[in-house]
Amino acid sequence: MTSNVLEVRQLAKSFGGVKAVSNVSFDLARGQLLAMIGPNGAGKSTCFNLINGQLRPDHGTITILGKKANGLKPRDVWKLGVGRTFQIAASFGSMTVLENVQMARLSYHRQTTSLFKSVPRLNRDHAMELLRLVGIEDQYNRACGVLAYGDVKRVELAVALANDPKLLLMDEPTAGMGPAERQEMMALTSSIIETRNIGVLFTEHDMDVVFGRSDRIIVLNRGELVAEGTPDEVRNNRRVQEIYLGEEPV
Ligand code: ADP
Ligand code: MG
Repeated sequence: MTSNVLEVRQLAKSFGGVKAVSNVSFDLARGQLLAMIGPNGAGKSTCFNLINGQLRPDHGTITILGKKANGLKPRDVWKLGVGRTFQIAASFGSMTVLENVQMARLSYHRQTTSLFKSVPRLNRDHAMELLRLVGIEDQYNRACGVLAYGDVKRVELAVALANDPKLLLMDEPTAGMGPAERQEMMALTSSIIETRNIGVLFTEHDMDVVFGRSDRIIVLNRGELVAEGTPDEVRNNRRVQEIYLGEEPV
């Protein structure tokens, strides 16, 4: 058995004439934090949406926990054990922190244990456990709409963890945060990776966070994977330096 939670091979997706993702291959192992970086328009969000089932690939394969996941609907990808951070602030702001996480767990359990009467109780305990994990249990009874921005992000993380995912996808999880809050969020993510032995793929603009926190980094440019390796390897990669200095040869 492979320890990879995700294997992507020769993935491709075009929009009209634009090759948003082109021949991208990479692996993500359990217990790893893998950053996907690259300039705006490099194809990062498209990659995420191919993996989470929002988009269908034109070409290539996606294997999640040993199962072929190409062309599955988002809900079926989720059932394979994939979590992703959602923006909950807008839609569920009037619900409490606990209710938001309970909702997410309930929709998971409805699939598997709907015959058991104790589910609501169980669900509450698990939801509180997740709130403790992300360090926000003391605010369980507050409406999400009144929370500080960073705390909303913690609730989003708890929601993403509600189905006990083995693979977590975080597209810009720290967008809008200050530097200290970013580091805190990523420290939290690292500790969750360790305690739950999951794999996390994330995008991030702050290079201090990327190079300081990731186990491995992959770099996209114009839809293509141009570099892959440890933070040191990627930092010293000439192609990457060219892209980030804006001196890319045509
Ligand atoms: P990133 O997340 O790295 O900024 P994206 O994956 O969002 O990059 O975009 C990659 C390329 O694909 C860009 O040229 C973008 O304009 C294009 N693109 C992304 N989504 C769509 C879409 N739904 N329709 C048309 N073009 C798109
Ligand atoms: Mg994007």
